[in-house]
Amino acid sequence: MHHMTLAEIARGLADKKFSSEELTQVLLARIAQLDPQLNSFISLTPELALSQAKAADARRANGENGALLGAPIAHKDLFCTLGIRTSCGSKMLDNFKAPYDATVVAKLAAAGAVTLGKTNMDEFAMGSANESSYYGAVKNPWNLEHVPGGSSGGSAAAVAARLLPAATATDTGGSIRQPAAFTNLTGLKPTYGRVSRWGMIAYASSLDQGGPLARTAEDCAILLQGMAGFDPNDSTSIDEPVPDYSAGLNGSLQGLRIGVPKEYFGAGLDPRIADLIHNSIKELEKLGAVIKEISLPNMQHAIPAYYVIAPAEASSNLSRFDGVRFGHRCENPENLIDLYKRSRGEGFGAEVQRRIMVGAYALSAGYYDAYYLKAQKIRRLVKNDFMAAFNEVDIILGPTTPNPAWKLGAKNSDPVAAYLEDVYTITANLAGLPGLSMPAGFVDGLPVGVQLLAPYFQEGRLLNVAHQYQLNTDWHTRTPTGF
Ligand code: GLN
Repeated sequence: MHHMTLAEIARGLADKKFSSEELTQVLLARIAQLDPQLNSFISLTPELALSQAKAADARRANGENGALLGAPIAHKDLFCTLGIRTSCGSKMLDNFKAPYDATVVAKLAAAGAVTLGKTNMDEFAMGSANESSYYGAVKNPWNLEHVPGGSSGGSAAAVAARLLPAATATDTGGSIRQPAAFTNLTGLKPTYGRVSRWGMIAYASSLDQGGPLARTAEDCAILLQGMAGFDPNDSTSIDEPVPDYSAGLNGSLQGLRIGVPKEYFGAGLDPRIADLIHNSIKELEKLGAVIKEISLPNMQHAIPAYYVIAPAEASSNLSRFDGVRFGHRCENPENLIDLYKRSRGEGFGAEVQRRIMVGAYALSAGYYDAYYLKAQKIRRLVKNDFMAAFNEVDIILGPTTPNPAWKLGAKNSDPVAAYLEDVYTITANLAGLPGLSMPAGFVDGLPVGVQLLAPYFQEGRLLNVAHQYQLNTDWHTRTPTGF
């Protein structure tokens, strides 16, 4: 049962082959048995799951249908869940039970999805390895000595290990697409504003976007359908109609113009990954796509710009965690300043403290123009590159990551080495564009992802291309040994 995709589950439930309650029991037992190896969950919610499953079964018995009605999922532990710990992977929020549901959580619950638990993540979504979590590192099911990627590493490892079919995740600089690539999943970062950020604990507000992690494009379409849409509670949410993503999966790729940026294939890219990307290009050509070389000349400036803007916004967003209203509070503070200093010093881990310091520095009076303003100008250049490229092509294709998943601990002493691994993903966040990563093969037994980028609100195009690719390849069906 645990091998089923969301689409298969929906068919099975509609045909009464099993109930949501039965499926939920099976998956909860599987999580209890296998997750100790992976550490992909921070909290499990079996009682909530079983009551939601029973309610979904009752709705189906009353004649209701729906792709998510009775479908088991989990939420990255930065989506607020009413009455349930929402830790953001941090000691700071270890004791925090959210007083309300995030819009994404409420929408999926209303569609009948069943929440099995909250998944592990890098602390405050900062990282690419899921090693900065207060709850310990997550292991990659493809090789337990390797990282699953981050910051949505818990959602990725759990779905890849068939503990559940799909999970929510967020992507500020790659945290949906990079763990998808590292664990052989399909992950979609929507256009900025497509999915509500209300109740999604902020890392860098102008970059953060929630989206689906699943095994197939077909399942990403189902989960995104439940997540997307205008939300008056989020002032950056965009009032743009949500298309029927599943209905759009079968469009022909005949004549689709795919741009391949020449900058993507420079030094730093593992040549074995380059070969796999070229294979995926050939596959899409067979389906009728036309390949064109393009250029994104400002790509080289994107990492430094991102690692100014994201920490700057984080330093502002995380100022609310001061030991006063919620979150960790130090013992016996001597005065207010001592309360702030020790609560934050004890509650935040090293990477979060580093980002707050970098961000506060970049925003400080003497340095604002030199760093923050400059980074914002680069951000515009990056966006302009994409706008020019999308005048000529429909989709941009390249690797999701320059290397496959590294060994646990390998980059701990050198944070910048980890930042450099974000080179292919962060430009989409800087520009606000949608991006998808899908399985493209293996290097040394570790999965490799190919990334597709599209113009604003063209999530449907990404899912269509990925689905057609997956109908003609079987990388996404490979299962890690032992799971
Ligand atoms: N690796 C990037 C960072 O640490 C992206 C993280 C994310 O997308 N949440 O900022």
